[in-house]
Amino acid sequence: MAKLIGGRAVVIGGGLGGLAAAAALADHFAQVVVLERDRLPRTALPRDGVPQGKHPHVLLLGGQRALAALAPGFEEALAEAGAVPMCLGLDGHIDWPGHDPLPQRDLGATVYSASRALIEETLRRHVVAMANVTLREGCRAEALLVGGDGARVEGVRHSALADGGTTTSADLVIDASGRGALTTRLLEETGRQLPEETEIGIQLAYATAVYAIPEDAPADWKFAVLFPNPRESNRRALLIPIEGNRWIVSMVSFHGEMPPDNPAGFLEFARTLRTPTIFQAIRNAKLLEPITRFAYPGSTWRHFERLADFPRGLLPIADAVCRFNPVYGQGMSVAAQEAALLRRLLGDLAGHDDPLGALAGAFFRDMPAILASPWSTAQADLAYPQTTGARPADFAQTMQFSSALVHLAVREPDVHQTWGEVVNLVRSPTVYREPALQRRVQAVMAEMAAAQRGASA
Ligand SMILES: Cc1cc2nc3c(=O)[nH]c(=O)nc-3n(C[C@H](O)[C@H](O)[C@H](O)COP(=O)(O)OP(=O)(O)OC[C@H]3O[C@@H](n4cnc5c(N)ncnc54)[C@H](O)[C@@H]3O)c2cc1C
Repeated sequence: MAKLIGGRAVVIGGGLGGLAAAAALADHFAQVVVLERDRLPRTALPRDGVPQGKHPHVLLLGGQRALAALAPGFEEALAEAGAVPMCLGLDGHIDWPGHDPLPQRDLGATVYSASRALIEETLRRHVVAMANVTLREGCRAEALLVGGDGARVEGVRHSALADGGTTTSADLVIDASGRGALTTRLLEETGRQLPEETEIGIQLAYATAVYAIPEDAPADWKFAVLFPNPRESNRRALLIPIEGNRWIVSMVSFHGEMPPDNPAGFLEFARTLRTPTIFQAIRNAKLLEPITRFAYPGSTWRHFERLADFPRGLLPIADAVCRFNPVYGQGMSVAAQEAALLRRLLGDLAGHDDPLGALAGAFFRDMPAILASPWSTAQADLAYPQTTGARPADFAQTMQFSSALVHLAVREPDVHQTWGEVVNLVRSPTVYREPALQRRVQAVMAEMAAAQRGASA
């Protein structure tokens, strides 16, 4: 075990971020207590505290690797529990404007596809098996306990435990509650500034159906994604395989349109998509449960890194800091990578004379490097005129660069590999700044501009 930097850490929320954080803390605190308001199902089932869990949850390669490093054996356990192995790049049918579909190429890694409930349950089994981690379910955190005139967080007040206890003291509290409401309330109550927020408003809606995979399912792909052309449509769709020989399929719309939650309307929506791939796959498939819907305002980044003053002993993580448009499948992976950052910092700070005093500053300093790449993916939503949020000054150039990069990736397997790794949060997009790649992309940009001039002449 690494050097301990505290006696007890408390994690608020036993979702993906909370469980990953608990794994990160386990080596550095004598005891880690996770407080989860839900009573947890004994098998992989959706639950009330994670309403998004009824919708497809893609675990990107970067997130899968981060979880496997935090909870060794996670990938094998997921596979054993029935997750569907997929060859990255090869097993997906991705319809992308101008490239229907993208070439299917083996990008050299296996990713596992499963329901959100199974991913979480598998991680939970690993985390609660850690000797010093305790999960208290059915226990809602109600307030943060502060000391030192608001300078530090000293624990959590919560609903009564079996022994009647309503408070748990802690050297460190991690807010992985998704909304981060207790953190923002504490900042207000102690007269501190709230973090500035950057928002990308898209008013997104999901309708999700679960089907038995039909016997005549396409043999050349396991998952399918339909990206729209923002100039033509706000509709998209996603189909992924999950345990139990099922497909989970979402129709998704931006800017206030609500995809239907009745079977006939759902199929009709699928029929209107830009390509027939998903409609043809599901039209005769057996629907297994009622269609569910979910509305989501958009992506929000709370800039804790800009705050001058933050209480000691408190750290928000995962969705409590940054939420992404879920169609890009990034939230769980970012949560896992933030937990990996937490673990690295706890190790680095072990020799510091005040590790807990230094932790939040170091975490907020390094977090933007994790968020920058997924945030730039989510910024693609700004291509729609109806999307709210400030466009970066170089937005048009960035979009041109992205479009040329995809053209190049279609033609050149090495660029496809690089792009696939960046999209999967395995590599930093700084790789796009390499001069040789820049020159190749710029040559394609020039070709595309010439073709456009030719078309409009
Ligand atoms: C429709 C939809 C689809 C998505 N698809 C994907 C996808 O494909 N891929 C992906 O990576 N991400 C996806 N996401 C995002 C993903 O769900 C989140 O980013 C991820 O779960 C973040 O984890 P979290 O721990 O911050 O929050 P959550 O996983 O939501 O967990 C928060 C937990 O805190 C508990 N809690 C809350 N308040 C309290 C309290 N006061 N006391 C005790 N417990 C509390 C809740 O019960 C819950 O268990 C999707 C999101 C949505 C909305």
